[in-house]
Amino acid sequence: MSFLEYGQSELTAVLNELGLPKFQHAQIRRWVFARKCSGFDGMTDLSKQYRQKLSEKFGSVFQGTQMKHQRSDDSAEKILIEWRDGERVESVLLRDNRNHRTACISTQIGCAMGCKFCASGIDGFVRNLTRGEILEQLLRLNSLLPDGERLTHIVVMGIGEPLLNLENLLSALDDATSSGGLDISVRRVTISTVGLPAGIQKLAEKVAASGKEYKLAVSLHAPNDELRTQIIPQNQRCGIKNILRATDDYFRLTGRRVTFEYTLIDGVNDEREHVRQLVGLLKHRTAIVNIIPVNPVPELGFSTPPEQKIRQFVSGLTDNGIQVKVRFRKGDKIDAACGQLRRTSRENTGFNKNLSAN
Ligand code: SAH
Repeated sequence: MSFLEYGQSELTAVLNELGLPKFQHAQIRRWVFARKCSGFDGMTDLSKQYRQKLSEKFGSVFQGTQMKHQRSDDSAEKILIEWRDGERVESVLLRDNRNHRTACISTQIGCAMGCKFCASGIDGFVRNLTRGEILEQLLRLNSLLPDGERLTHIVVMGIGEPLLNLENLLSALDDATSSGGLDISVRRVTISTVGLPAGIQKLAEKVAASGKEYKLAVSLHAPNDELRTQIIPQNQRCGIKNILRATDDYFRLTGRRVTFEYTLIDGVNDEREHVRQLVGLLKHRTAIVNIIPVNPVPELGFSTPPEQKIRQFVSGLTDNGIQVKVRFRKGDKIDAACGQLRRTSRENTGFNKNLSAN
């Protein structure tokens, strides 16, 4: 099994088996998580004998191969990792002017949710990522940062539905947020879901029990069931009412305000009537709406509303006391923006336009 597949206590057992003294366990974790070292040979405060043993047992810290690395002019970076079975995912590093360094990670190979405006489901669903594969994305993105800099935030907003791979995700996030791990504050981790009531409920119980109360974002995108089912087929099974009931529970159990994502699509969900309905759903809730002007995916044929309409939509909400943030587009020149990640990298899809490949 690959190194990153082992959780903390399992790793202790394996390192004991290899005969490594206790104090060196922490050293190894420090090399991997704090010192961005992916080869056991480079762990120079371990004896040569132990370094050799570790290399023999695990090969390298990483199990995937980085096939591509691109940087866009707004300083977003995207990597494509190929796993041992040949399947691939994309992950993104975003920087902003507040010195946030955010990793956007994937949880599945492909996606089964079939949202009409999103590229990630176009090629269907293959499998869940393992805990090690999820963690590896974080470590690889962390390594793109210069010495002395490290990731400050995580958004689980890449490919896949995180709540359908909850165990592996939470296990990886444990290492990401522990002090001997990547040491990222729990408050700076956001999990975005298409909106699965049972999954939200389960997440609420788990994070409340562990004290790791991650931020929850829910992809609402439409203020009534008819429209929501048109653009998010999954909605047929749950309905907005049940989603809101689950998010109310999340807030009650964790004390964390839920974010509702609303991808604004020209002529689809951006009318005054939609504002009115959305206000009706949220005005008595402690929530924030995150407006995402849709990022075009060529095959899907949706377009972004004109600037004026976006502004109108936003002020329609704020005038009614709803808190709103507009998510600025980042990385779209390298198809790294929301909804543009996918598992295949055909020449005509992800990696061809306006890019400066590294
Ligand atoms: N599967 C998770 C994470 C998806 S990505 C989820 O459904 O929430 C994060 C956000 O980007 C989601 O709200 C998603 O619906 C949205 N999104 C998907 N495609 C998009 C597109 N083309 N433009 C803008 N946002 C998009």
